[in-house]
Amino acid sequence: MDAALGAPEKMADRADELTPMMRQYFELCDAYDDSLVLFQVGDFYEAFCDAAERVSRLCEITLTKREDSTGQYPMAGIPIDNAESYIETLLDAGYRVAVADQVQEPEEASGVVDRAVTRVVTPGTLTEDELLRTDDNNFVACLASEGRSPSTSRPESDDGETYGLALLDVSTGDFYATSTDRQSAVADELGRFGPAEAVVGPDAPTEPFADDCMVTPHDQSVFAVEPARELVESYFGSPEGLLATDAEIRACGALLDYAEYTRGGESEGEGERGRLDYLNHLTRYDPREYMLLDAVALESLELFERRAVHGRAGATLVEVLDETACALGSRELKDWLRRPLIERDRIEARHDAVGELAGHVRTRERLHDRLRDVYDIERLISRVSRGRANARDLRSLKATLDVVPDIAEAMADCDCGKLRALRDDLDDLAEVRDLIGRAIRAEPPIEITEGGVIAEGYSAELDELRETERSGKAWIDSLEAQERERTGIDSLKVGQNSVHGYYIEVTNANLDAVPDDYTRRQTLKNSERFYTPELKAREDEIIQAEQRADDLEYRLFREVRETVAAESERVQALAETLAELDVLVSLATVAAKYDYARPAFTDESKVTRIDGGRHPVVERTQASFVPNDTHLDADDFFAVITGPNMSGKSTYMRQVALIQLMAQAGSFVPAADAELSLVDRVFTRVGASDDIAGGKSTFMVEMTELADILADATDRSLVLLDEVGRGTSTTDGLAIARAVTEYVHDELGSRTLFATHHHELTDAADALAGVFNLHFAADQRETEVSFDHDVRPGPAAASYGVEVASEAGVPDAVVERSRELLDAGDSSDTYEGINATNGHRPGAKTNEDAPAGDATNGDEPDADLAVTIREQNLATTTPMEALTLLQELQAELEE
Ligand code: ADP
Ligand code: MG
Repeated sequence: MDAALGAPEKMADRADELTPMMRQYFELCDAYDDSLVLFQVGDFYEAFCDAAERVSRLCEITLTKREDSTGQYPMAGIPIDNAESYIETLLDAGYRVAVADQVQEPEEASGVVDRAVTRVVTPGTLTEDELLRTDDNNFVACLASEGRSPSTSRPESDDGETYGLALLDVSTGDFYATSTDRQSAVADELGRFGPAEAVVGPDAPTEPFADDCMVTPHDQSVFAVEPARELVESYFGSPEGLLATDAEIRACGALLDYAEYTRGGESEGEGERGRLDYLNHLTRYDPREYMLLDAVALESLELFERRAVHGRAGATLVEVLDETACALGSRELKDWLRRPLIERDRIEARHDAVGELAGHVRTRERLHDRLRDVYDIERLISRVSRGRANARDLRSLKATLDVVPDIAEAMADCDCGKLRALRDDLDDLAEVRDLIGRAIRAEPPIEITEGGVIAEGYSAELDELRETERSGKAWIDSLEAQERERTGIDSLKVGQNSVHGYYIEVTNANLDAVPDDYTRRQTLKNSERFYTPELKAREDEIIQAEQRADDLEYRLFREVRETVAAESERVQALAETLAELDVLVSLATVAAKYDYARPAFTDESKVTRIDGGRHPVVERTQASFVPNDTHLDADDFFAVITGPNMSGKSTYMRQVALIQLMAQAGSFVPAADAELSLVDRVFTRVGASDDIAGGKSTFMVEMTELADILADATDRSLVLLDEVGRGTSTTDGLAIARAVTEYVHDELGSRTLFATHHHELTDAADALAGVFNLHFAADQRETEVSFDHDVRPGPAAASYGVEVASEAGVPDAVVERSRELLDAGDSSDTYEGINATNGHRPGAKTNEDAPAGDATNGDEPDADLAVTIREQNLATTTPMEALTLLQELQAELEE
């Protein structure tokens, strides 16, 4: 982004020649030089000069001009009332937006009105509800690195740096920190949290960030250990014992500094400049405390996002599992899925709760129903703390607190430890609830400065002012009748307008009857307006009372808001409790609805015993699904899976990984029965050619990802290899597949499912103890192929590319010929072998005996095809390659 969005150099040089307001504008642009400054002028946010042109173009608003004594400036204005939607447009275009508000009443200003940046809106630090997804967190990350002597044990993966990573959701106050010695682990954690923005220091690498993550360089000095430590300490106490490395402290400190910077100088509310008082917890974790899901696994298992492979429609895991009732729960569910547990006790506590709720329909439904009335109190309390909450927010908090006792009551009979603990943690913050109930009106306006917010009976002073107002108005209401009687003018009217206040109106015809104490206020065409000393006195009284009441209300409101803010930690704890409960109810609902089973955990190693397992998403999105068993254990822990294209290999492997992941996240699983040993990490690698359409993977990517597995997998990991080694020549691919098999088997001992088109790999079962074969068969009646999607022991018998091609509609002639070639290929191993046997198409001319040009003869396209087909080395042709080839041949035939 350009250094000076709104303030070209020459403007700063001309500072003396500018009007005070324009000077103020350019100074703010200088101070926030990586942002686009929106500058409040009355009811608009204005941008000037270059920035005006951009804003005008992006937001499709008219470019105008501001003219003053010093010159002309292009200008574009956004109406403040509708600012958020324009700000969103600017964010989408890749800008950060610094909002400079008038922070002084124009009447109070001696010269130009004071303005200050009250917030910098950036993708990672959003707090505006309009700009946030309710069902997901919005993280900003900060990465700092720290030199260290590289470890000698794993030189291939160690660059001698320690990386500190901090992640903050400014809208909810969720704050995490971790560190690692490996850059790939940083990428994995980033993949988990999917930050929208990353703040980087002087020497942090920029590679690990996703394409859709805005990278923001921030003030270098705050990345130093000392200032960072001080800032962290000011929030959470001493970082010793809380944070593990200097890199972590630096990342957290710099991130806090950035978050404060985006809060601007002057918040409307109370508290120190820009401070985020609602940050009550900093959670330090070690990536190894959760099942590690690297970015590739998250993507290929389609937990949160669909992969756009071949434009196939479908759903994500979270969509299947999300039956939550409130925003708190839907965010929590994502957190459970992105950080599955690895401690058996914690997992089983969740399973107990899910089981209990799955069995008690009434309790479950009642809880779900009550939880629907729970507001997003996590974001709400952060608004309260930032001084951005209005009276409606406080009422929403109260409404939430009001259902807490109902929820506790619905849980009265809950029996398992987890549910009982949650019930005991339910805190309805009785004083807060009572305070809001007494202080804030039931249906308050959105504006908090114009009265109507504070309930009657809360403040005697306020009630008195209101009484004055009321009786004054009542007196005025009665004035008309009174004056008509006194003057005998029947058409006399009492009215009010905003300029002249209250008046008594008399038509011109009756002016003779006007008493002496009437003073003229305004002359109209057909009438005159008057006031009396008494009316004036009452009016002043009303206006004063009104003004004082509004001010008092605003003050009282802020006091209430501060009192509530002081309880932010308890509100956050309640939010957490409700969130967990909502997720458990949701998982129980899903378990009951889709007939999931409770998985059991065993201390035996490498056990995956799944009976009748299903893919949770595929079974929801297609008419019928064939359940499959999986039996892995210490003796048979490495399955080589063969079978034709489309027979179900990839689906099967992913279903095993998803079942493991769901189980460790606390969910029941789509299976008749499952017994599992804990897994520390799930790795998935998908061969490059599976992604032809996406054009994403290259062989290099594939091998880099593979290298990560080989470096990180353990004997407690679950590894899925789907057609690894496809992105290169067949010989290389097979060699790599073999080598990987041996390495994973011998060195890592990870539970592995390896789907491969390299039929040769099935030999590994004989050579390596622990390796065994599975296959998917095709049901080959006559020439049609159909798949039963049923996994069977042993290697697949044949390659079915031709039959698939036939199904796909490739012309019979081509299919026939392919089949002949295949048959020939079966009895021999090589292309030469095919030629040597009777591999020629009967009646077709060979190259040798064909006259030149004959093969391309338009009457005989088959001859041409025959040559191409004959040149194929079928021994090394994969089904996918065969299919692609046949498609090409078909295209040629159609020409
Ligand atoms: P492969 O990896 O062997 O090429 P996939 O796993 O991609 O095959 O499966 C191809 C299609 O078959 C899937 O998109 C799915 O629609 C269907 N399928 C896979 N497994 C099953 C199953 N167990 N029951 C029903 N349909 C299945
Ligand atoms: Mg596949």
